[in-house]
Amino acid sequence: MKNWLTDNLLKIKEALFKTRSVLDTDQVAIEKIHIDLNEDYYESILEKLIKSDIGFDLSNKIVSELKNEIKSENIEKAELNIKIKEIVRTLLGQSVNKLLNKISLIPEQLNIFLVVGVNGSGKTTSIGKLAKKFKDDGHKVLIAAADTFRAAAENQLLIWSEKAQVDIYSPEGIKKPDAVVYGAIEKAKNEKYDLLIVDTAGRLHSQVNLMEELKKINTIIDKNAATSKKENLIVIDASIGQNAITQAELFQKAIGLSGIVLAKLDSSSKGGVVLNIMSKLSLPVKFIGTGEQIDDIAEFTFDEYLEGLIA
Ligand code: GDP
Repeated sequence: MKNWLTDNLLKIKEALFKTRSVLDTDQVAIEKIHIDLNEDYYESILEKLIKSDIGFDLSNKIVSELKNEIKSENIEKAELNIKIKEIVRTLLGQSVNKLLNKISLIPEQLNIFLVVGVNGSGKTTSIGKLAKKFKDDGHKVLIAAADTFRAAAENQLLIWSEKAQVDIYSPEGIKKPDAVVYGAIEKAKNEKYDLLIVDTAGRLHSQVNLMEELKKINTIIDKNAATSKKENLIVIDASIGQNAITQAELFQKAIGLSGIVLAKLDSSSKGGVVLNIMSKLSLPVKFIGTGEQIDDIAEFTFDEYLEGLIA
């Protein structure tokens, strides 16, 4: 049987490899090196933190705390890393952990994930991964293909549903996304599915009518599955930097979000964005995408993330 816990940490660590390299903290061989902690060195730490997309304010705070706490002018690299971790934990641990609560399905009733995000963010892939994860956990999963704007989207989703070995609701001839969602809810209720995952068009947030369509879908779910537990999840590409914040804010305004799936963390050197997002938006990162394969998904936990971020 798969050990999800160890697996999770390993996946997070691997996915943060590029970011860790930017932060220059994974070079075990030089851990014993002594660092001359002068202004230039502090400046270089600040630069690296900003480069990893932790955010300017937070990076500044980390460095000024470091200066306060480290009195000596010479320190072992390993010790410095431990200090940085401690500071991040003190600055953010409480607020981040308060946001985090694991998604667990309520038994004996329909749970719904409404998944939104712009095209190319990794939405379809993430839906496939989530479907497989919850199916592996013993749940009956249905995917609703409510992105009726792009013919290719339906086919792509079909492929992922087959990989995950879950059912898909993709009625021919229905072109209105809210009608697809309505039908999917009926089917899911009648056939006692545990989880319905709704795919939506990769709306560009500037396209007002598409956002309106999304609001309609959200309302259809609230009306027709009022007792269901619903998660409104946005999929964000980890490598887009500050745009991530703007995107999430717009979707938040349109339908309200309950969490983030941060895709492609493995291909980004800006994995610090997780901290930036959570502190700016007060929204939890629930899952991270750690690769292109169906099992490449990890649950986000703060401690494991810090472990992966800084060696
Ligand atoms: P969508 O347009 O939002 O549905 O995006 P897709 O799911 O089609 O993904 C866009 C691209 O990102 C594809 O090439 C995926 O293989 C890739 N991708 C998605 N998630 C991940 C991930 O976690 N890691 C990596 N490395 N690639 C990913």
